[in-house]
Amino acid sequence: MCEKKLLNKTAIVTGGAQGIGKSIVLKLASEGANCVIVDIDQQTAEDTAKEVSSLHNVETLVFKVDVSNYQEVANCVDKTYEKFGRIDILVNNAGITKDNLVLRMSEEDWDKVLDVNLKGVFNFIKATAKYMLKQHSGRIINISSVVGLMGNPGQINYSASKGGVIALTKTVAKEFASRGILVNAVAPGYIKTKMTEKLSEEQKKKLMEYIPLNRLGEPEDVANVVWFLSIEESSYITGQVISVNGGMYM
Ligand code: NAP
Repeated sequence: MCEKKLLNKTAIVTGGAQGIGKSIVLKLASEGANCVIVDIDQQTAEDTAKEVSSLHNVETLVFKVDVSNYQEVANCVDKTYEKFGRIDILVNNAGITKDNLVLRMSEEDWDKVLDVNLKGVFNFIKATAKYMLKQHSGRIINISSVVGLMGNPGQINYSASKGGVIALTKTVAKEFASRGILVNAVAPGYIKTKMTEKLSEEQKKKLMEYIPLNRLGEPEDVANVVWFLSIEESSYITGQVISVNGGMYM
């Protein structure tokens, strides 16, 4: 049997209740990591924690947190450290969309998406970094998006937030490299989750013209890359953006 690569490590996954986040939690737990599931949807997060415990011999914690609220974030991170005595992996995955064309975009929808998708990442990094710095080790993986690289009509707020996540990733990677903390981003293309289930069959068909691998991605396609960025074997990679998009943007 293969040795588990994340035995006794502690991982925090935001937006971990469902979709890509849930898949990341399941993957990290399958490698032995104790998982902290942070989500605004507490019931679904509890259900996911139960599923993880039934499948893998690891500990789970659930926190109902709005990632855009620094006090809630700091409280959850401090409690995680109190419980496990270390924080090895932080996956900033929680994200939302509120799409509209530029001229129709409300100030409220701009602020909300930037608050969750960009400030939420800053909040978790700020709250977690002090523990990782003390340990002289840590992995931070931020979930961006293909539209943060290439832009997308109707998503000025979302694409700006995801482009911001990439710039932030590179800055933090430079600040923390000498302290043993590696910081990378993963940029998924279109992945089958609640976020993309609104796409009509027609829209999906049209999308296939731009995706050389000719399919939508599975949440596991993203989770596998997050897993790789969490393990010892990726210890010479920092400040990078890894695309998981079926070749949609090269
Ligand atoms: P999802 O299925 O909607 O799951 C996101 C989870 O985050 C949900 O449980 C959601 O709760 C939670 N959440 C939303 N706002 C939150 C907040 N303020 N604080 C804490 N939790 C919050 O999304 P997904 O498709 O898995 O996407 C995960 C990440 O991948 C996002 O950052 C997204 O931008 C990125 N991404 C996704 C795709 C894709 O095609 N799916 C492509 C590129 C990038 P509620 O359901 O209650 O809102």
